[in-house]
Amino acid sequence: MNIRLEWKRALVTGGSSGIGTAIVRALADAGAKVAFTYRSHPEAAEVLMETLRQEGREAISVEADVSDPTAVKAVFERMDLAWGGIDILINNAGMDGERALSWETDLPSWRKVFEVNLFGAFYCASEALKRMVPQKGGVVLGISSVHEEIAWSGYSAYAASKAALGMLTKTLAQEAAPHGVRVLGLAPGAIKTPINRSVWSDPKGLEDLLRKIPLNRLGEPEEIARLAVILVSDAASYLTGRTVFVDGGMTDYPDFAHGG
Ligand code: NAP
Repeated sequence: MNIRLEWKRALVTGGSSGIGTAIVRALADAGAKVAFTYRSHPEAAEVLMETLRQEGREAISVEADVSDPTAVKAVFERMDLAWGGIDILINNAGMDGERALSWETDLPSWRKVFEVNLFGAFYCASEALKRMVPQKGGVVLGISSVHEEIAWSGYSAYAASKAALGMLTKTLAQEAAPHGVRVLGLAPGAIKTPINRSVWSDPKGLEDLLRKIPLNRLGEPEEIARLAVILVSDAASYLTGRTVFVDGGMTDYPDFAHGG
């Protein structure tokens, strides 16, 4: 199937790194106009913009911290000005925070993870739906995690924020469905990006991680991006209110292959 997204106006948060960059590139390859946000790496954003320019793509990059609702509003206003609105939002920006057990963690760090992963996704979804509902069309896709479902010691804010993102997806989908707008989640397993470099670059960490993945390898950002393009396209026109897990079988709990 050849998926084309010509005339679609897309926004990817956290587009200058890892999964976000792969999604920006895949959407642009499918013909969409793509805006993306970056926060702490302007140089990475510039490299991506230069690549898109050389490929003749229409793209915008905007600096924004998604946990700041004023900054989020400004991103959408920039898209209004340039392209007259939005058709596709990918809520990708996220952080896992420092590993700390719940009785050792400090509250500002715990809260920050929620402010980025959940509040940030909500601020963006709210601005997007303000525009998609009146135009009777659009798709919001949240990049969740297998930790929407799997508990993760030391990362309670991350796991809880992704679980909350799953319910946010269902609820926003219910609100938006009568207006022809779809809201979905995509939950990656272990994908090789900077967020988990400390694990895959350490042989012991990698060995432990691979034991948790039936397909016995990490995923590539492009494998998430390809599915994101399908989910926001009309190929998935009857799918809403669900999180799709793309995890090499991680949520199949491979330990049970040996009995239980
Ligand atoms: P990454 O390379 O570290 O990318 C994270 C992105 O989020 C970066 O672009 C970062 O921007 C952005 N970001 C973080 N805090 C932000 C904030 N306050 N405001 C705006 N942007 C912010 O990691 P990744 O693996 O691509 O992660 C992308 C998404 O996939 C995240 O939601 C993550 O939870 C999810 N995910 C990843 C995996 C995995 O194995 N890689 C698995 C499950 C889920 P800057 O770099 O500019 O700071």
